[in-house]
Amino acid sequence: MNFYSLENKENTASFKEAVIAGIAPDRGLYFPESITPLPKSFFDTIEDRSNLEIAFSAIRQFVTDDVPDKVLKDILTKVLDFDFPVVDIAPNIGTLELFHGPTMAFKDVGARFMANCLGYFSTNTTNEEVTVLVATSGDTGGAVANGFLGVKGVKVVILYPSGKVSAIQEKQLTTLGQNITALEVEGTFDDCQHMVKTAFLDGDITHTKKLTSANSINVARWLPQLFYFLFAYKQAKSKGDALVFSVPSGNFGNICAGMVAQKLGMPVKHFVAATNVNDTVPQFMETNRYQPKPSTATISNAMDVGDPSNFIRIRHLYQDDFENLSEHLSSYSFDDKATREAMKTIYKETGYVADPHGAVGYLGLKKYLSDQPNTYGIFLETAHPIKFLDVVQDTLNHTPAMPEQIKKVMDGKKRAKCISTYDELKSFLLSAT
Ligand SMILES: *Cc1c(COP(=O)(O)O)cnc(C)c1O
Repeated sequence: MNFYSLENKENTASFKEAVIAGIAPDRGLYFPESITPLPKSFFDTIEDRSNLEIAFSAIRQFVTDDVPDKVLKDILTKVLDFDFPVVDIAPNIGTLELFHGPTMAFKDVGARFMANCLGYFSTNTTNEEVTVLVATSGDTGGAVANGFLGVKGVKVVILYPSGKVSAIQEKQLTTLGQNITALEVEGTFDDCQHMVKTAFLDGDITHTKKLTSANSINVARWLPQLFYFLFAYKQAKSKGDALVFSVPSGNFGNICAGMVAQKLGMPVKHFVAATNVNDTVPQFMETNRYQPKPSTATISNAMDVGDPSNFIRIRHLYQDDFENLSEHLSSYSFDDKATREAMKTIYKETGYVADPHGAVGYLGLKKYLSDQPNTYGIFLETAHPIKFLDVVQDTLNHTPAMPEQIKKVMDGKKRAKCISTYDELKSFLLSAT
C-alpha cells in the first residue's frame, strides 16, 4: 500500500519509504491511501484468535508490498511477546494494561515494530546506515532505546532534558550502549525537540546522513498501536455492552490508531481523549478552533504536549468534518489536583494503583459514562506506576514493588554526552561514524 502526505496527496511513498523518511519531504504526515475493513466474521470470532493472528490480519494490508508475510509474522512474534490484560476495576469499567513490555511503557510495541521493520529493510538492501534521532520527555526514549538495541544498520541518538526525566527513565535511556547514544541536553524538552527539528531541516546533515524520526509521526510506530484496541475488544466483547475507550493523550497517536481499528470494522461506540491541562484538543472540540500553545509541565508529563502532532490525522480520518468527528470523539481536560484525587479514589475503592496518565484516562471515562447506561468503558493504563514513583508515593503513601525489568536496568552504568547548543548536536551527528 502507498501512503500519501497530508500536505499534498500527490506526494506518495511506499510503506518502506515512509518508514525510512519518517515525514514526507513536504513536511506532511503520511497517511494510508485506503483502510479496507476486515470481514465481519473476523470480529464475530475474534475470541478464538491469538493476538498474533489478530495483529497480522489487522496490519497486513498496510505493509504487505514491502514486508513479506513470513517476515511480518516473525516481526510480530518478537514484538508481541507479553500480555495486554483488561483488568476489571468496577462493574462497568476496566483498564487495559499496556505496561507489561520491556520498558513498561505502552510505546514498547510501536518502537519494537518500527525497529524490526527498519532492521529488515537494512539487511535487505545495501542502503546506507539510518540514524534515528529522537527527543524525549521521558517514556519515548526508553522504549526506543530498548526496541532498537542491537538492530544492524541503525544508529539511535536520543536527546533528553537534563534533570527533567525520572531516575528510572534516565537509566533506561543511558545504560544500554551499543548502537544507542544518549545526549543529555542542558535545557527543557522543548529545547530538545527544537534541536531535533532543526537537524531534520539542516542540509549539511541530511545530505550526508539518512535521518529518521521514531516519534509517533512515523507510520511504523503509529499504526501497530491499533492492536491494543483489538486485544481489548477480544477480552471485553463478552460483556455484551457497547464499548467506549478513554485514552490518556499527548500527541494523539495512540487514540488515532484506535480510530483506525474502528475503521477496520471493530464495534466501538465512542472514544474519549483525556488530557491534562494541555487542553488544545478539548478546546478544539468545544470551539472548532485549533489553537496550539506552549506546553505546561504536569505530573502526567508524557502528555505535556501543546500542539499534538497526530491530531491532523484524526481530523483527516473524519474528512475534516467537525460534526462527524464530534459523534465519535469527546475530549476532556483535568488538572493535577483532579488527577491525584482520581488516583486516591481508585486506590481506595478498588485497591488498584493507577499511574497519573491512567488516572487522567479514568477521569475522562467517568465523565463520559455518567449519562451512558449499558456501556462498558475501558481506560488505557499507559505506564506502570513504578515509572512515576515519586507521584505515586506522594499521593497514595504506597510503594509498588519493583518489577524485574526495572531492577535490571537500575544496576546499569549511565553513559551520556552532555550538550547545550545546536552546534554541539550538529558536530556530533557529522562526526559520528
Ligand atoms: C506517550 C505517552 C502517552 C501519550 O500517548 P500519545 O500517543 O502521544 O497520545 C500517554 N501516557 C504515557 C505513559 C506515554 O508514555
